[in-house]
Amino acid sequence: MQTPALTDLDSKYLVHPVSNFRDHQEKGVKILTSGDGAWLTAADGNTYLDAFAGLWCVNIGYGQQRVVDAAITQMTTLPYATGYFGFGSEPAIVLAEKLVSMTPSSLQHVYFSLGGSDAVDAAIRYITHYFNAIGKPTKKHIISLQRGYHGSSSTGAGITGLPAFHANFDVPTPQQHKISCPYLYRSEFTTGEELIAASVKELEDKVAEIGADNVAAFFCEPVVGSGGVIVPPKGWLKAIADTCKRLGILFLVDEVITGFGRTGKMFACEHEGVEPDLMTIAKGLTSGYAPMGAVLMSDEIFNGIADGPNKAAVVGHGQTYSAHPVSAAVALEVIKIYEESMLAHAQSVAPYFEAKLNACMAHPLVGDARSIGLLGAVELVADKATKRQFDPALKLNETIADIAWKHKLIFRAFGDNILGFAPALCFTESDFDALFERLQLTLDEVLELDIVKQEMKG
Ligand code: PLP
Repeated sequence: MQTPALTDLDSKYLVHPVSNFRDHQEKGVKILTSGDGAWLTAADGNTYLDAFAGLWCVNIGYGQQRVVDAAITQMTTLPYATGYFGFGSEPAIVLAEKLVSMTPSSLQHVYFSLGGSDAVDAAIRYITHYFNAIGKPTKKHIISLQRGYHGSSSTGAGITGLPAFHANFDVPTPQQHKISCPYLYRSEFTTGEELIAASVKELEDKVAEIGADNVAAFFCEPVVGSGGVIVPPKGWLKAIADTCKRLGILFLVDEVITGFGRTGKMFACEHEGVEPDLMTIAKGLTSGYAPMGAVLMSDEIFNGIADGPNKAAVVGHGQTYSAHPVSAAVALEVIKIYEESMLAHAQSVAPYFEAKLNACMAHPLVGDARSIGLLGAVELVADKATKRQFDPALKLNETIADIAWKHKLIFRAFGDNILGFAPALCFTESDFDALFERLQLTLDEVLELDIVKQEMKG
């Protein structure tokens, strides 16, 4: 079908995730047609460098034939097996064992979802069930981070700390609370230690305000992703995990973005030896080749549910496609790729990425550059000295993304002009050279815009 016809059909019929419905209809869709390694081809015939791995998920890059072959083999032999009624399939069982062996030893059981939002949703349901089962029914409140993202399920969206996911959706609920994001660049603190101490105090105060007997859990990303790639100071995750333990609340780490090599370790928890009670994963699990997510939980939670007063009844949480065998076969092959060579490759090129990203600080628009492994961002400001932001009404981020597209570069331009990068773990030094050359061209062109010049004058 020709592109204009598809564009028409898209605008008439397809509702796009996290989009402004009318703006999207007006601008039209950019149709992607094929991918190879770090590169995408669009229906306009051009090839683009994807510096965001799709939606920070295609960690192994596009066109990995052995993953396709694994999916075909599984589809041919057994395309579907339900997990209901005592049935199961080999790839799902092997994958569950593999994930338990790869993740911190506190995590011993796996429930498979279709992606990240429903992994978070399953976590909320299991936590609720657990506290009811162990006779602590008041423990229902959940604390999370402002700017954190935990998907857009009907309740999970309230744990997310981004206003767009709340407006007109009637969340957060009264049981969902936030503390400040560990965002050193825009905090009152000059050192990581000060910020960590303040975060711990804020969490303690929030738990005291709600009452420890009423707080079920704290949820956080090890690096806040969709809230603007905010890398916390070293030691923050461990300090928060220890605080949760001390206060008797469960600690859930959401590794949907940070899992599977993104931050330079297989899981970001490993940087600080954190042992969470629950972990959510998705994205890199299958590298986007098939939909799948999971929530991992401790023995304590699993046994609390299994042996609770309702132990004769079924635990009423499930989905038709939980533990889908094709997705599980894909995940097993993807994990082999990480373990054979790709994680080691990502670790070896991360310093090159970091150096190039930090060099962006020389540009007049760049106020901050931050990264961990192959996850990074530059933050654009109207005034470096005061860190003054551009007027959000300008929607400069959309213009920046359009200019980058013209330079055949894809990254994520967040609303507050933070440019996020999550290159596939297969990026080579020459891919990084292309990324930063194109970024330089993009930033130089942005700097020449009249609206930008005016804002920078103040
Ligand atoms: N949690 C985190 C940290 C995420 O970044 C995302 C998605 O970006 C989700 C949960 C939701 O995952 P999904 O979009 O697969 O539902």
